[in-house]
Amino acid sequence: MDIQRVGIVGAGQMGNGIAHVFALAGYDVLMTDISQESLDRARALIDGNLERQVTREKITAEDKATAMARITSTLKLSDLGQSDLVIEAATERETVKNAIFEDLVPHLKPTTILTSNTSSISITRLASRTDRPEKFMGFHFMNPVPVMQLVELIRGIATDKETFDLLHGVVERLGKTAATAEDFPAFIVNRILMPMINEAVYTLYEGVGNVSSIDLAMKLGTNHPMGPLELADFIGLDTCLAIMNVLHDGLADTKYRPCPLLTKYVEAGWLGRKSGRGFYDYRGDTPVPTR
Ligand code: NAD
Repeated sequence: MDIQRVGIVGAGQMGNGIAHVFALAGYDVLMTDISQESLDRARALIDGNLERQVTREKITAEDKATAMARITSTLKLSDLGQSDLVIEAATERETVKNAIFEDLVPHLKPTTILTSNTSSISITRLASRTDRPEKFMGFHFMNPVPVMQLVELIRGIATDKETFDLLHGVVERLGKTAATAEDFPAFIVNRILMPMINEAVYTLYEGVGNVSSIDLAMKLGTNHPMGPLELADFIGLDTCLAIMNVLHDGLADTKYRPCPLLTKYVEAGWLGRKSGRGFYDYRGDTPVPTR
């Protein structure tokens, strides 16, 4: 089976990046979201990010124009019915994802492959709520998608070999590299990364360091390109908290207890870069630590 038409559900940080790389690789992309504003913002962001690639001579102006012409959007989820591949990249909440698949499935072709970009939720459980668990996989892109090389491929318990091989081929056509993970909470990358970010928030909470000293220590002390709190803001604090909850619930080990300070930031609506404030305040010219 050949994949040409790709539907993307959720046009947030991840959805726009996924649309960008698929359009550039020659796929026809149809994005959907519950918010027209998100769809408009996604299109503007993709345009700006492709333009930066043109300026850096990574792609030509013609590549950019062709890619932009391949991206369309709709507010109607059912319009994705003719897709060969659907990538769900909506908010990291299982009820949201289940509702999307439930509404979408009756409109799909029998051959459509369903995937979720979830950072942590069980692929087997999401798949079991659809009519095609054998054609369902975790397709986990990293942020920012146009820059990051890795795609984590997560097989649910029922995923068949044909689906896995097909998606492996898609990753190659995107010019990216796949790592395969089994379906356990948060897979590989976030199983290791999120407890580190959560521990950084505990370090802040307990007053061991402030935002600047924690990020500086980890950047210069471990050669990480970004400090853990800066990275948490980049990922989105709501997403970080959701992943910690999945680890805590799914593995039933207190070592995954989300830091109360992380919960407090999320309750305040301080979600990181995307909301203008998190561990840093991004509303001025340069980010200012909030603690
Ligand atoms: P985001 O908050 O930037 O975007 C989520 C988008 O989903 C929003 O535009 C929202 O309007 C839309 N949405 C919500 N409910 C919807 C529905 N019912 N139908 C259609 N659209 C809906 O979040 P994000 O950072 O792009 O994360 C999206 C997914 O990608 C999550 O599952 C997250 O775990 C995963 N992910 C995030 C990162 C990251 O670094 N942020 C990395 C890898 C994977």
